Amino acid sequence: MMMTKLRIWGGAGEHGRSCYVLEGKQHRIMLDCGVKKEGTGQYPVFPPQEAERLTAVLLSHAHEDHSMALPLLYKNGYRGEVWTTKATAEQLGSYFRSWHTYVESRGGKLPYDEQDIESITYRYLEDEAPSGVWQEASPGVRIMWGRSGHLAGAVWYVAEMEGKRLFFSGDYSRESELLVADVPEPNLADISIMDNAYDMDIDPQPVKLERLRVEMERILSAGGHVLLPVPAFGRGQDLIVWASEQFPEQVMIIEPDIWQGLQRLSCLKEWLRPEAPVRIEHVLHSDRIFVPRDAAERVRLLEQSAAAIIVTGDGMMDSPRARWYYQYLSDQPSSVGEGKGSGKSNHNGVILTGHASSGSFGKHLLERGDQDDCCIVRHLIYKVHQGISDVRQMLKVLPGKQVVLVHAPKPQTDLVRGELIREGWTEHESSVKAIHSLEPGATLNV
Ligand SMILES: [Zn+2]
Ligand SMILES: [Zn+2]
Repeated sequence: MMMTKLRIWGGAGEHGRSCYVLEGKQHRIMLDCGVKKEGTGQYPVFPPQEAERLTAVLLSHAHEDHSMALPLLYKNGYRGEVWTTKATAEQLGSYFRSWHTYVESRGGKLPYDEQDIESITYRYLEDEAPSGVWQEASPGVRIMWGRSGHLAGAVWYVAEMEGKRLFFSGDYSRESELLVADVPEPNLADISIMDNAYDMDIDPQPVKLERLRVEMERILSAGGHVLLPVPAFGRGQDLIVWASEQFPEQVMIIEPDIWQGLQRLSCLKEWLRPEAPVRIEHVLHSDRIFVPRDAAERVRLLEQSAAAIIVTGDGMMDSPRARWYYQYLSDQPSSVGEGKGSGKSNHNGVILTGHASSGSFGKHLLERGDQDDCCIVRHLIYKVHQGISDVRQMLKVLPGKQVVLVHAPKPQTDLVRGELIREGWTEHESSVKAIHSLEPGATLNV
């Protein structure tokens, strides 16, 4: 008798290369196939010969740590479809381009080519069934999806095959400013894969946003520019809307790709909270927001505005544009805050609001610490993942018999696991039997 197994090919005990396979007698369902942004890129430890044996591939969202290894499946013989939403499929093109750029900038080479990217065939979840409704992904395999509030198009999954039920949270947040999250119907899964990227962090979004507001206020009132480097889609759009409301007098300089992301988001109403379209429209028609068309205009805008909020692409600051802004802000201490001494001190600031991988330029700046002649660099998270309190809440609704905590380094995941066990989540009258902190290559019997 072969048991159903969950194989961890990436994503547990680390940030990146999310990739899991639920493996039964007849069926094998893969959840995500992402990369890790370290070195020249790290890929799931999935054995290539297994690709053609997959029954279905379910993709949670477009971020590279969940999607950028998908072409490897086709290179290795997978001929089936990738289930995802239209909004996710639409965003993937831009992620493939920036992943390519990232790998080359590190002196590496992509392990697949353009042909493999073009081979991917998508199947759209929302064409088959609405959120919260079962659909057949293949004879004997049922799936259900819901919005995960992490990014437009991002979803969680419940999958059933061979008498076993799996829940995969994807990257999950109930606290986005703009995006709506569906709460899965109360359910007991045999195995649950849960986003716990913020490990022991318990701060809710309002606390995080207040810290961000105070720091931005401090920089702007001293006459400095605030640079917010963000991914092309996702928290960048949330932060633009939030910042334009918090600082209604301030000029904002927004790079075209991020701005287009906001325009696009305004059309994706099915992913938004009820009040979000009005908030977005307000920003789209603001006369304080400027989108530079070229390098000359970018410099002119920076020179003209005393203290601006700047939003540019690449949350980890590896892109040439993000680095250019950093250099500019370091070289051009803002002139308005003069009065003290020679006026040489730099009032500009960079605020990283998401994960910074080791080896990234953003991480390098954070580790280096403040230097007199450069702008300051701060790390203040905008919440797009789950910390331990969100995991507790999810465990109440969806108590997996076995729970795998994912998306954070192993030592941090160990702490959360230890804490949840101490709190009694796995005691014998509980439906949760085990909470796991695992690493790539691990296998669980389901
Ligand atoms: Zn994500
Ligand atoms: Zn992720």
